[in-house]
Amino acid sequence: MELDRMDENDWKYHGEGNKSLVVSHVQHCRVLRLLKYPAEDSENPPQTAEQAFRQIQNIVDFTSNVMSCLLGEKFVHSGEVVRLPLEFVRQLSIKIQHQRPAWRCDKVMDIYSGCALCLPNLTSPTLHQPTPTPPLCIEIKPKCGFLPSPKHVSKDIKTRVCRYCMHQHYKVANGKWKRHSLYCPLDLFSGNRQRMHFAIRHLIEEPQNNLKVFKGGQCIYSSKEGSDESPDTNSLLHHLRPYFLRGNNRVNGHMTTKAVLNDFIQVLGNALLSAAGGDGGQVTDRTGEGRSFCEASLFNRERIRHGSQGLPTNNILSRILQTQMLDSLDIEGLYPLYCRVEQHLQDFPKDRTGLQIDGPYDQNFLEKVQKCSMEDDGSVEYAAAKVHQYRIAMTAKDCSIMVTLVPSGEEEDDDEDLSSQKRLRDFRPQAFSSSVSVLDLDPKPLDSVPRQLRLDQKIVSCYLRTGGTLP
Ligand code: ATP
Ligand code: ZN
Ligand code: MG
Ligand code: MG
Repeated sequence: MELDRMDENDWKYHGEGNKSLVVSHVQHCRVLRLLKYPAEDSENPPQTAEQAFRQIQNIVDFTSNVMSCLLGEKFVHSGEVVRLPLEFVRQLSIKIQHQRPAWRCDKVMDIYSGCALCLPNLTSPTLHQPTPTPPLCIEIKPKCGFLPSPKHVSKDIKTRVCRYCMHQHYKVANGKWKRHSLYCPLDLFSGNRQRMHFAIRHLIEEPQNNLKVFKGGQCIYSSKEGSDESPDTNSLLHHLRPYFLRGNNRVNGHMTTKAVLNDFIQVLGNALLSAAGGDGGQVTDRTGEGRSFCEASLFNRERIRHGSQGLPTNNILSRILQTQMLDSLDIEGLYPLYCRVEQHLQDFPKDRTGLQIDGPYDQNFLEKVQKCSMEDDGSVEYAAAKVHQYRIAMTAKDCSIMVTLVPSGEEEDDDEDLSSQKRLRDFRPQAFSSSVSVLDLDPKPLDSVPRQLRLDQKIVSCYLRTGGTLP
């Protein structure tokens, strides 16, 4: 990619979140992730080009020095900051505008700084050999997978119903989504195959912003916010069918829709469970702690027949969960420590740098977080370290997992003397090789802490008011 000779025709709209917009290269496996601003600020960028560069460099540092160590290097791509010609960025923004979903257009793409984050395109993996069907990529935004400890929360409901399930009620009550999702993150993070199957099935039924499916780099399945229509599951199944037809059409050309869906969920669950970074093997079973089952989940506990498998250690879900659990005090227990930091910064503004409130996110920052003592000695250093831990946990609660499934390039073989092993294999779902990455690992700003407290209060009181009953 030659940065001085960029052509907007080489790039196309790929997707966006709340904070950034992503375009992908039409040939190379690269994406550019650009910042977004509220539309009101479109004439008047909220930060200078240098500040935008710094913000993106902070994302790179936080990803590579902090999140990568906690989640496992193998899963994390930190990318690099690039400076792009402003004319290219302007033309690009005009070109892609009509492809953006209307509900995301309360924000505009940053066309002033010329800075972007350049990353590998995780939905178009580099292939070493041709495959019979294009790779499938499944993006899951799993959200928080545990219940807070009763020690720190003021409302008992928070120890029984998970944050995601309560937030669902809030979002439906406020019209953000028209239908409830029956997905519960505690089921996905359980490591129990049946519960994981249940969770993934409900992600597919109501993907909201927690599931997207890409085929050959193109998004083929996702939800539209505030829309009355359900996403088209039949169309998804139509795309998936060729991947799961057994025995190259010979054995069972009319596989039922249900069987296609089951095979897909199973392959996805296997990929999530097998993705381990480094030496794994041991199993973390947290069922004994009583903090791994959400009362709002419709998964019937009696259905856990074969005991309760936990997550293998070093597995991707386990790594994400451990990182989320750096939020050990809940927002309610953390808030007084946040206030201690804020008060200190008002009295001694210069300490902002020493406490590394806005970075730099370097080795030293990680050490502060990892060496933070359990005991509160009343110091601002302790409070700052707990706030850092909380912010890291927030990033882990907001990240996405990208599972890549590459169909194995086995050719159709009309040979008469097939080995019996080959024949047997024809009766099983098509084999895939899988890999897993984590994306969207931005640091959360300090002022997100008071916002989280207010949101938490609103969500809990809404849940208590509506009694948590499904419509
Ligand atoms: P959120 O609102 O979840 O915080 P965000 O604004 O921080 O989102 P991202 O989640 O990083 O933005 O990116 C938006 C979308 O772009 C992702 O959901 C994903 O579909 C796509 N995307 C981001 N990075 C990549 C990548 N490296 N390869 C392929 N697709 C990507
Ligand atoms: Zn739940
Ligand atoms: Mg995201
Ligand atoms: Mg994000």
